[in-house]
Amino acid sequence: MHPFAFTKAPNTRAALEAGRHGGRYIAGGTTLVDLMRETVERPAALVDIGALPLREVTVTERGGLRIGALVTMAEAAAHLKVRTLYPVVSQALELSASAQLRNMATIGGNIMQRTRCSYFRDVTAACNKRAPGSGCAALEGVNRTHAILGTSDACVATHPSDAAVAFAALEARVHLLGPDGGRQVPFADFLLRPGSTPSREQALRSGELITAVEIPAHPRPLKSGYLKVRDRQSYEFALTSAAVALHVRGGVIREAKVAAGGVGTVPWKLPAVEAALLGERPSDRLWAEAAAHAADGARPLQHNRFKVELLKRTVERQLRIVGGSR
Ligand code: SF4
Repeated sequence: MHPFAFTKAPNTRAALEAGRHGGRYIAGGTTLVDLMRETVERPAALVDIGALPLREVTVTERGGLRIGALVTMAEAAAHLKVRTLYPVVSQALELSASAQLRNMATIGGNIMQRTRCSYFRDVTAACNKRAPGSGCAALEGVNRTHAILGTSDACVATHPSDAAVAFAALEARVHLLGPDGGRQVPFADFLLRPGSTPSREQALRSGELITAVEIPAHPRPLKSGYLKVRDRQSYEFALTSAAVALHVRGGVIREAKVAAGGVGTVPWKLPAVEAALLGERPSDRLWAEAAAHAADGARPLQHNRFKVELLKRTVERQLRIVGGSR
């Protein structure tokens, strides 16, 4: 591990000041410390933001749910409002990592976590995300777990977060605070596709701090859930996953929110699936027809062609679980 400076920010102002001078924010540290040990990340200065007042889950004036950036994954998953209003979020969190990690890792850190591409973590391998311009060892290497959607010639790594898939499905917003004040960014715009600059992963400005993730009010109550398919049943990242939220009234689907994980370079919203569901009557046939669009635009690699069919089946199954079998 390389030497680094470490400070504890007593308040938000001090944190922003340290961030303005290049300090990297650290909260649970469950990703960053690992990466520093492996010398993948070499920050010169860390700023511990654990003392900031960002640890509450609150209902907003408009009826949305605001989850503070320092709320741990375990706390968010167990929160009554999260469990009752958005089970898709609590299920995604509970299917992530291990209990020990969920007790440490925060919501802000969860959406900031970096890819599990093994070449990214191997400092001897070519990796445009870690070392811009060095190439991408995964393109011709072992790429079974890599992305089939949103890829570029520069990078094909998946985003590893499950909670981010649920947030994408629900069209959450990320609250940011920086030297120039606060702003909100739609979740779909917060995490960036690799394009030709895979080392740039979030739409963060210099020194900005995530303060919360807000799920907007959904006036029509949603029935929701998260399905994760992986090589083993615990402590494993998704091969495919599906976040589904539906509102059915009078036998007709009035709202449909669907996103997929384990397949995209960012959590992958599925507007074609949503469009196929809206205004239709739930049926097994509809679930299959809608899910057939889940892999639209996919560009599989040598070892991950199986994800195209697996993704469609994952989405179909989760539509049936949430919407019912008919
Ligand atoms: Fe690096 Fe992305 Fe290629 Fe993995 S897929 S080696 S993270 S550039």
